[in-house]
Amino acid sequence: MEHSDLAYLGRLFDTFYEVGALPDGGVTRLGYTEAEDEMHRRFTALAKELGCAVETDLAGNTYAYLAPADEYILIGSHLDSVIEGGRYDGVAGVMAGLLLLKRARDERCLLPLKVAAFRCEESSNFGCCTMGSGLVTHQLKEGPEQLARLTGKNGVTLGDVFARRGLSLTPPRITGVRAYLELHIEQGKVLEETNTRVGVVSTIAGPRRWKLQLKGLAEHSGATPMSMRQDALCAAAEIVLAVEQIGRREAALCESVATVGVLQNSPNALNVVPGAAELGIDLRGSRLDSLDRMEQDTLSAAREICQRRNISLTESKLSELDPVSMDPSLQQGLMAAADRLGISCRNMPSGAGHDAMAFAPLFPTGMVFIPCEKGISHNPMESTSLLSILDGADVLWAYLTATR
Ligand SMILES: [Zn+2]
Repeated sequence: MEHSDLAYLGRLFDTFYEVGALPDGGVTRLGYTEAEDEMHRRFTALAKELGCAVETDLAGNTYAYLAPADEYILIGSHLDSVIEGGRYDGVAGVMAGLLLLKRARDERCLLPLKVAAFRCEESSNFGCCTMGSGLVTHQLKEGPEQLARLTGKNGVTLGDVFARRGLSLTPPRITGVRAYLELHIEQGKVLEETNTRVGVVSTIAGPRRWKLQLKGLAEHSGATPMSMRQDALCAAAEIVLAVEQIGRREAALCESVATVGVLQNSPNALNVVPGAAELGIDLRGSRLDSLDRMEQDTLSAAREICQRRNISLTESKLSELDPVSMDPSLQQGLMAAADRLGISCRNMPSGAGHDAMAFAPLFPTGMVFIPCEKGISHNPMESTSLLSILDGADVLWAYLTATR
């Protein structure tokens, strides 16, 4: 039994393998592009081979199910990737869903399962994440006009892309969902480092993102005395370390994280005192009080540093999402299912965003994580094992068949 499950997962993986493949081993399958379309075509073919009916919605998402029902347990994830991404982010969850459909068919089990492959979960093409799942759950913060103006990597607006495809930026809200479940690679290294086979997600962290622009004075690096400088990069450097300190402090309290992932230096010349710098700051945590503290402390540190160094500071908030909790009874049920199977399991927050965020406000929602090698994700080196995907799928199956 287990052997044929692994063989089936292997075949699914091979079917998706070459889509958007890059010479360095990774893949680029951006949302609402031909590569993502091809992933959905292959998903459709695999589902039809199982005897499933296949449907799409007005956001371009694809659904597969064995028999019609009024209410489904929806198992979903996405088939797009970041630029030069890996082959498991999103795909692992869709593979697990197909495996469970196959199991339901083979065992003549009447579970009302529906598997969803969502569009454009990554922000890599249009700068907006969980687009497919967010549109059909009406959970996107951006309105239709704002979405229509978003411009993809190839210069075409989302409005034009949707018009050409006959899709709608105001699709009807999804109904008939009894519960939403998602399997996903962890994209971190907690499971691997703690030797744990699956994680049950407690909360999906809310990101708060800021752009700080620092303006000093670009001057001759030989002729400007140290005491007379307005060096924007030095101020930025202090801010980077202050953000790290704030993140470390909050991590100890509640596993929050704080990152300066973007740093631009201008004019970036060897013989010029840096006159301007720009920082992109990403604060994430599963508790609102921690997010508030990190945000306030980051801004007051930046203000103090800039004032002391005679640098002018412009602050702009790029985005804000609240943390999203997974359904408590689903968490318990999934943990208990792992326990029954003898699969080691831990309850853990998710630092990364997922399609499950869009469903959690509307339907009971749960997520299972599986380890990924060295925690590497959004990278061609991203990897997990088929055995881990099977572990996660087994936990979902054990939960579903126990609560039927
Ligand atoms: Zn993902």
